[in-house]
Amino acid sequence: MSAVAGGRVIFSCESCDSRLIKRTSTLVHKYLRNDIYVCDNPLCGASYSGHSELTGIASPSGVPTALPSELPPTPSFLRAQMQLAWKAGKGYIQLDLLDAIDATVGNRGDKQDAAGHQSPATTGRYDHALPVVKPPRLR
Ligand SMILES: [Zn+2]
Repeated sequence: MSAVAGGRVIFSCESCDSRLIKRTSTLVHKYLRNDIYVCDNPLCGASYSGHSELTGIASPSGVPTALPSELPPTPSFLRAQMQLAWKAGKGYIQLDLLDAIDATVGNRGDKQDAAGHQSPATTGRYDHALPVVKPPRLR
């Protein structure tokens, strides 16, 4: 009942194997939508119903004023929270490899050495520090 098309998994008709197109979607409640799918084959015309549901929070909002989610955390989110708590308990003494790149004082070469990267491109990919630029000046 599903196939991969262009990297996306789509449903297919169980009668004729044509792809199904989502025609309508109605909100049942805050975390649940009811979907109607119609077969793309005009000679078939079968339709199906299903639902899309948010079942957990995978990562928190970055908005400082955001309310906490009512949804349960996903296992990976729980693991990340536990790792943060563990690191806080250790006083952040030991940095992750990616944290080490950002925490290293110096130029890009120093960061590359600290991370053990072979190429500057790899360091650039994982360096999340914002570039420091000079403020504009009046002429
Ligand atoms: Zn069909």
